[in-house]
Amino acid sequence: MATSSTHLHGLTREELRLLLVRWGFSPVHAARLWSYLYLGLAGSFAAMPELPVKVRTRLETDTRLDPLPVALATDSADGFTRKYLLALPDGERIETVLMRFTGRVTACVSSQVGCAMGCVFCATGQMGYTRHLTPGEIVAQAVHVARALRHPPPGQCHGLSDTGARLRNVVLMGMGEPLHNYDAVMHAIDILRDPNGLALGAERITLSTVGVVPGILRLAEEKRPCHLAVSLHAATQTERAALVPAAKKWPLDELMAACRTYSHQTGRRIFYEWTLIEGKNDSAEHARAVGNLLHGLPAQINLIPLNPTAGYAGTPTRSEAAKRFQKILAEEFSLPSTVRQRRGIDIAAGCGQLAVGSV
Ligand code: SF4
Repeated sequence: MATSSTHLHGLTREELRLLLVRWGFSPVHAARLWSYLYLGLAGSFAAMPELPVKVRTRLETDTRLDPLPVALATDSADGFTRKYLLALPDGERIETVLMRFTGRVTACVSSQVGCAMGCVFCATGQMGYTRHLTPGEIVAQAVHVARALRHPPPGQCHGLSDTGARLRNVVLMGMGEPLHNYDAVMHAIDILRDPNGLALGAERITLSTVGVVPGILRLAEEKRPCHLAVSLHAATQTERAALVPAAKKWPLDELMAACRTYSHQTGRRIFYEWTLIEGKNDSAEHARAVGNLLHGLPAQINLIPLNPTAGYAGTPTRSEAAKRFQKILAEEFSLPSTVRQRRGIDIAAGCGQLAVGSV
């Protein structure tokens, strides 16, 4: 049964069809409703004129279509990043980021309000955990970005003024640990991937985890169609546990065993993320330690110079040291790596910087 809290963006196409059929409406109306939601990116029932009034009335009574109101939108000085502070129906708020790179636009979406994992350099971890997001709240963030791309507000800065651009990538790297909210995140991914909707292919969705071992094993077992990124940051248990408290629960050897299982069962390469903190984990020895840890695995390493947050005193590795790190990985261990392009740092929209009220 639908309830007044049934969020339309939280239903798969089949669930939506079953709902309307149960109400006695034609599946044709369900197909049209789906098109309004994901092709038309409709933000209200009034914007669905081809649905019969009786269908719209029932939807208005028994479901919710919550376009997430924007409490604040901030553009980076270079115009390539826009951060949204979005309001949820219960008064909580989350952040979602639109990032424009050459030839692609990516939405970085949140999976929780806050986060329970407590990574020391992360603004979301510093604010603590409030609640999980629902599948509808996760999907609605992607819809919000897709709509913003299609209809950029007047006067929007140059870098994002690409009317008609299509959302092509979603990364679950915003606020929260996606594998702590496994079921809702997987349901949302099913909806995002629907070929008759936003149609994001498996290679277009990346989920980032701090290393929740049961979640990685479940992903492997279920062979979920998305990329997996694992935040490593250190190559010994002691150093890792100092940066990532969750490592005390899921130690490095268990994490690496889960990663090997994942790659073996899915045939997929894992992206390993390494936040480069000057003087902490960016020496040649650190590069060799991670090289030894990942050597022979299907791995790509994303090096992310630390982004500043109020609650952590570390500084980002300089570019020469980052290049030396990369060179060791490539030449001594044949491991590919990239140094992540820094985007939106001036508006606290970079990796690890999202937190309600941080603008
Ligand atoms: S880095 Fe990710 S997992 Fe760690 S505290 Fe921040 S949001 Fe949570």
